[in-house]
Amino acid sequence: MGKVLIIGAGGVGTVVAHKVAMNPDVFTEVVIASRTKSKCDALVKAIGNDKIKTAQVDADNVDELVALFEEHRPDIVINVALPYQDLTIMDACLKAGVNYLDTANYEPKEEAKFEYSWQWAYKQRFEEAGLTAILGCGFDPGVSGVFTAYAAKHYFNEMQYLDIVDCNGGDHGKAFATNFNPEINIREVTQKGKYWENGEWVETEPHEIHKPLTYPNIGERESYVLYHEELESLVKNFPSIKRARFWMTFGQEYLTHLRVIQNIGMSRIDPIMYNGVEIVPIQFLKAVLPDPGSLGENYEGETSIGCRIKGVDKEGKELTYYIYNNCSHRESYNETGAQAVSYTTGVPAMIGAMMFLKGLWKRPGVWNVEEFNPDPFMEQLNKQGLPWHEVFNGDLEL
Ligand code: NDP
Repeated sequence: MGKVLIIGAGGVGTVVAHKVAMNPDVFTEVVIASRTKSKCDALVKAIGNDKIKTAQVDADNVDELVALFEEHRPDIVINVALPYQDLTIMDACLKAGVNYLDTANYEPKEEAKFEYSWQWAYKQRFEEAGLTAILGCGFDPGVSGVFTAYAAKHYFNEMQYLDIVDCNGGDHGKAFATNFNPEINIREVTQKGKYWENGEWVETEPHEIHKPLTYPNIGERESYVLYHEELESLVKNFPSIKRARFWMTFGQEYLTHLRVIQNIGMSRIDPIMYNGVEIVPIQFLKAVLPDPGSLGENYEGETSIGCRIKGVDKEGKELTYYIYNNCSHRESYNETGAQAVSYTTGVPAMIGAMMFLKGLWKRPGVWNVEEFNPDPFMEQLNKQGLPWHEVFNGDLEL
């Protein structure tokens, strides 16, 4: 059906590559490119399919990307490098005529700022080039938006309250580690909180609002309101939403480590001089923390991510609706060699590219996932390892 180029061979790239290889009827040719080619080669070896090609690329460099795209002529690029590379990869897609998909919005390196404005600004150029760009197609953002679109399409006349709830009920046995790229993760969870209410953004101190929420098969976990990028597109695409929040669970140990890391300046993103060399503290910290890709082996427990929605149903009655997926770290690891946080991101990225190649999510322009038909995507979630469950008129606790 089509040729895919995966950029990035970290935790998420590992899962994307495995899942793409498991769907050879859709992905007829596969190339994996990253900064460190040996990681791509190791991945191909682990998958055991020597037809998959590998390449070295610096995705900060548009010319290098264009040369890579022209050599391999992919139909779509799955960008699972870092958010810093989103714009250079989008620029190269426009130059070489390649479609685009990612799992995280662009972030400038020098400022932890999460918004779609930079990528939405490419809309007209992608439209004019006849190319599709699918933004934020991991789990959250990603499936969280597809779940919301599915709820709006099938159950709600008016969605009023949306709470995205993200629990990692797993234990990796390390004192402190992040589940995906530490630099990106720490930037995200140490920022101020923010949620949408009555037509405006309400800002909070980091981790200021919290309460215990109950997660299926996991139990009660303290959950914290933080800003997450899909809130921006969801309140725009579903204007009936009066309040939209994002909750994530953190253990006390994790928060204590995080506080110390901040207090001693190790989360700083500005360069400092050390022994005559310029270093960025958070990048140095990444180098000494456990590699998220190595956490899988002894990871026990599950993740549980879903949407809790309240509003008015198609018959005009009040409805509460909870849709979620639980994913086991151990099963993810046994299937792909990566833990559930990478798995829940990589599987939807593969499905998004599949939707594009099947012509179901193909529309020139720049789009967030909730702007496409959720039904074929939801069907694939059940088939590709992320089954979902629904609860009608239960207690949302919110
Ligand atoms: P990793 O750090 O494990 O992997 C990143 C990969 O990108 C590495 O292979 C790295 O290469 C490569 N890379 C980094 N910079 C460049 C560059 N300039 N050129 C080429 N390759 C580069 O990250 P994860 O796999 O954990 O995360 C990948 C993406 O997924 C991130 O954008 C993250 O924000 C997103 N994500 C999204 C989620 C969602 O639900 N939507 C959840 C979790 C993550 P090297 O090995 O040489 O460092």
